[in-house]
Amino acid sequence: MVRFVSVLFLLAALADDDADNRLARDIYRELIEINTTESSGSTTKAAEAMAARLKASGFPDQDVYLLGPNPRKGNLIARYRGLGLRKPLLLLAHLDVVEARPDDWSVDPFKFLERGGYFWGRGTTDDKAMAAVWIATFVRLRQEHYVPNRDLIVALTADEESGDSNGVQWLLANHRDLVDAEYTLNEGGESQMSDGKYVLNAVQPSEKTYQSFRLEVRNSGGHSSRPGKENAIYRLSEGLTRLAKYQFPVRLNEVTVEYYKRMATLYTGQTAADMRAIAKNPSDRAAASRLSQSPYHNALLRTTCVATLLEAGHAENALPQTARAVVNCRILPGDSPAEVRSTLVRVLDDPRITVTALSEATRSEASPLRPEVMGAIERITAQLWPGIPVIPLMSTGATDGLYLRNAGIPTYGVSGFFEDIDDTRAHGRDERLGVKQFYEGREFLYRLVKALSS
Ligand SMILES: [Zn+2]
Repeated sequence: MVRFVSVLFLLAALADDDADNRLARDIYRELIEINTTESSGSTTKAAEAMAARLKASGFPDQDVYLLGPNPRKGNLIARYRGLGLRKPLLLLAHLDVVEARPDDWSVDPFKFLERGGYFWGRGTTDDKAMAAVWIATFVRLRQEHYVPNRDLIVALTADEESGDSNGVQWLLANHRDLVDAEYTLNEGGESQMSDGKYVLNAVQPSEKTYQSFRLEVRNSGGHSSRPGKENAIYRLSEGLTRLAKYQFPVRLNEVTVEYYKRMATLYTGQTAADMRAIAKNPSDRAAASRLSQSPYHNALLRTTCVATLLEAGHAENALPQTARAVVNCRILPGDSPAEVRSTLVRVLDDPRITVTALSEATRSEASPLRPEVMGAIERITAQLWPGIPVIPLMSTGATDGLYLRNAGIPTYGVSGFFEDIDDTRAHGRDERLGVKQFYEGREFLYRLVKALSS
């Protein structure tokens, strides 16, 4: 009898799983087939489609908002009312996608396709899986008559990838009350597989700050048949050569210390020893220099600044009147862009090379590794993928999380959509996500939302 009951229970659970998968897949399909590129798409259409789904599932009109700075760049904000015992939990995903030219792809990027164990289409990984799952989770929780201990907010936003109507920035500036939260779950986590085997589930509480600087040398120029000692190109080049040899100091933070501690368990030999050593003592120069051989570890260990653009002179037969370079910096959380500029000035070591910030950097302090958040992620990871470690990760790139962190709302990148680390196709051609991995991620995020609101 006990066995019979448990079989029935299992069958019922499987049937539910089927229904949940169908719902999430259907929303996912709808999002993929709405073009949300900067050049020819609209996030408003996608936001409207998701608003319609929520209203059809019982969300009152006054809890579903469509807002944006212009008709093409709409953002969807939806509120799931809870008991109000704590500040809300914000669930964020961006609706816009990177351009995709059908000629470059082997399938139509804006036609949802299930083939060979994958879902294909632009945005399947970045970031429409997450957007679809947030909406599916809201619908499912409502069907269950779930009452969270706090409000849950879903924000699906515009212009994360490009364009000048970044939804998160715009919402923080114009409707802060609608997105204000204790903390946020966002993209930026990495659930990694290698050769079909699951390796780790990474949480991203921190990312580097992006800041470019223009370097410039000017002089009076003249006829190139009578060159003098002074030359703008030589002067700038010499400065750049000094910069090329410079390394910013190694600095670890709570996230990278924990990262190296836990990653050490996945490696063997010298690399494992170096990871353990640097986590214990950031001034271990031998360990730092061996790890820094890898551009990835170098980027984790320090602020980096690298020359990316160069332009000089105005004619083949004239001495250059200007020489300019752009240096792109990725700054560790905690380092200030102004300090980095002073370091550049010192390293270039030439008062005639001017250094100007190209734009106002948005600083992004690391979010604290909250035991509540890390604990829930570890617990649910162990339920769904026993033995797979949870690793905190600082992104070397940037997401919308930086605007939220800068506004004092801690943000955690976490997904549960496992992808092969040697075959990531976000922003590239033939973007796809495993069918099984999408459904697992759906369940993972659903359980996580529940764990953080009950
Ligand atoms: Zn993205």
